[in-house]
Amino acid sequence: MIELKSPSQMELMKEAGRIVGQVLRRLKEAVRPGISTLELDHLAEEAILKLGGRPAFKGYRGFPASLCTSVNEEVVHGIPSRRRLQPGDIVGLDVGVALEGYFSDAAITVPVDGIEPKVANLLWIAESALRKGIHMAKPSGRLSDISHAIQQEVETHGYSVVRDFVGHGIGTQLHEAPQIPNYGKPGYGPVLKSGMVLAIEPMVNQGKPEVEVLADGWTAVTKDRSLSAHFEHTVAVTDDGPEILTRWNA
Ligand code: MG
Repeated sequence: MIELKSPSQMELMKEAGRIVGQVLRRLKEAVRPGISTLELDHLAEEAILKLGGRPAFKGYRGFPASLCTSVNEEVVHGIPSRRRLQPGDIVGLDVGVALEGYFSDAAITVPVDGIEPKVANLLWIAESALRKGIHMAKPSGRLSDISHAIQQEVETHGYSVVRDFVGHGIGTQLHEAPQIPNYGKPGYGPVLKSGMVLAIEPMVNQGKPEVEVLADGWTAVTKDRSLSAHFEHTVAVTDDGPEILTRWNA
């Protein structure tokens, strides 16, 4: 069952979303060659707390950090470490915030410095796929319209979508019904209604769609070790269309 949020619940999710967006903006500015992913995690945690939120990922099923940092062939759920970012790297930054019992969740993939044009294109298409998916998050549409729009944008440009991880409903839980695959035929699944809140999150690989999880139990990497990009927004379905709650460039 997909929970519909009341206007007052929506307000808390918006506030949590504003914190997520601000934190991502700060992190984006902080990414540079030589910074470690652990330093980015500390920045994220400090900013979340200062803005009045709680880091939603820390301790979630035992995850040890406030931020997921996924470098290059890492797809999602990378654990911050002393690894220092190098020019030409890309780093996925995924932030979740809880505020008074409500969650918001978003991610960006950021170039570290001087990336090759074909890598810039991967980031561009992954973000564009997110936008196309969000565009379909409107009342009376069907859930798989979102999935299809994402897959279409990604595969048209010669990339692949990850199957093993999906977007999700969000609210009083970080992950709620429904699951939102990033692939599929349009016109299937639940009818979208005003009051639903969805975390839409395409994971886009340069090579094949298969992924595997490393021995740390968290870090997902592409099986062929090709680069991967991840973008995510928490989006409210409203009578006026999709409303992004986690803007990082507002
Ligand atoms: Mg998510």
